[in-house]
Amino acid sequence: MNSNRKFWMFVSCGVISICVVILSSCWSVRDNVQDQAMAISQSQFPIDIQTATRYSNVVDVLIIGSGPAGLSAAEYCARNKLKTVVVEGINPGGQLMRTSYVENWPGAPRALGADIIEALHNQATQFGAEFISDIVTDVDITSWPFVVKTEGGLTIHALSIIVATGANPRTLGVEGEQRYWAAGVSTCAICDAAFYEGKNVIVVGGGDSAVEETMQLLPHVAHVTLLVRKNHLRAAPSMQERLKGSDKITIMYNVEIEKIIGDESHVTAVQIYNNINGETQQLPIDGVFLAIGHIPNTSIFKNKLVMDEEGYIIVQSPSQKTSIGGIFAAGDVEDRHYRQAGVAAGSGIKAALDSSAFLTEHGFNESVAHQIDDADAYLDVHADEPAAVTMIDSLDSFKRLIGSNDAVIVDFYAPYCSSCMAMMPRYASLSRTTPSVVFTKVDIEKSPQLAKELNVRTIPHLRIYKQGQLVSSSNQPMSKKELTQFIKAVL
Ligand code: NDP
Repeated sequence: MNSNRKFWMFVSCGVISICVVILSSCWSVRDNVQDQAMAISQSQFPIDIQTATRYSNVVDVLIIGSGPAGLSAAEYCARNKLKTVVVEGINPGGQLMRTSYVENWPGAPRALGADIIEALHNQATQFGAEFISDIVTDVDITSWPFVVKTEGGLTIHALSIIVATGANPRTLGVEGEQRYWAAGVSTCAICDAAFYEGKNVIVVGGGDSAVEETMQLLPHVAHVTLLVRKNHLRAAPSMQERLKGSDKITIMYNVEIEKIIGDESHVTAVQIYNNINGETQQLPIDGVFLAIGHIPNTSIFKNKLVMDEEGYIIVQSPSQKTSIGGIFAAGDVEDRHYRQAGVAAGSGIKAALDSSAFLTEHGFNESVAHQIDDADAYLDVHADEPAAVTMIDSLDSFKRLIGSNDAVIVDFYAPYCSSCMAMMPRYASLSRTTPSVVFTKVDIEKSPQLAKELNVRTIPHLRIYKQGQLVSSSNQPMSKKELTQFIKAVL
């Protein structure tokens, strides 16, 4: 090798080394920046696992929420032999219960959202997870074990918590929206599509949910107009494909709703404006379906866990750890980016593994579990025995019942309506303690004609009749306390 060549090899090696050093320091700066972005300082309470036996109603892992994240977490925790209790919340199963067919659930080319939830639920139950049909109203996470209170009156001591409370549909906040809520304004096409047979409806939004809602409405309605506020859809290309080829779908771009108009009983039109040229117009319409995103359900953890400006719980990526040691979050409550059922399930599994590791690190083992068990500290979950509620399936039997009883409450529901089904045990349980009222129910899937004759336009829907007269109604999913107040208010 001549000296000239040696010189250039030396120079090139030097340059390469310098580049490597500069690049690696750049990467490390970038990683540090990312770490800082993800880092939240975690408070850790002094934990002596042996003290757990001193408390009553002790649960190793309490999971709040029963969507794909909560159920997957439950399956993993229960399979890991942890005492796992799931507080189901007001909408058991979460958003998947409102979806028709899901085509991107791994391993199932086409499955009903409700079937996916049922399978996850069964799998978690099979491994020993227990479910409480209740709502968490308060959490004290300032000391350990964490204290969780439910609306049903339970006080649970949780050695660890997985928050999987999901997110709720966002609303527009325009004039007429609340006035015509459940009287033409809906956020659940799968629940309400059947009420819009042969009608003209609009769907607001440009994401995957808007496409999904459109497809759910299509078999029922005469026409769907999709109102998109940008000049393009945000939905995935594969979802957008589904909109093609139907002359029952119109897409309007750059339009927003200004107000929702009705005839006092139901929506009749919307006033829209073009956000490019400012032109306004009224669209005659029978129904407005909102699909404009979600708000995370984190109010019970406000000022207790670190959240971002929109209320999403911040987790220490790549784990599901929150700002408090022993509390983990999974699913849409912490994921503002992917928001897919599969991702939620995956994060639920991560939270379960993190939770198991947390307990093990703090000395939890089989012997401790037995000690807690022997101390009779474990939560005993008793599902309410459903009482008999009379099923009404014809106008004749309806008239007979309300005519011959002083007070009758009617619950209009359908098996595919998750919030209706969640209310059912509360409704049945109240029927046992409220003998002065006759509790009845109408399955609108089995008796669509009766629902039509009684002008029922949305579910869940409750009506109270006194001496044959309608005295009160509600379209809201209700907790046991709210149901009790609703009934007491008119008795
Ligand atoms: P997105 O946040 O993705 O979309 C919300 C849409 O609503 C956007 O087009 C947004 O407009 C629009 N919007 C928001 N506020 C308003 C408003 N005030 N007026 C008019 N339009 C408004 O929410 P999605 O619920 O659609 O989806 C959430 C997540 O769930 C996504 O990750 C999605 O992929 C997933 N998903 C998947 C499904 C599937 O795979 N089958 C089905 C449903 C959801 P803009 O674009 O201008 O912001």
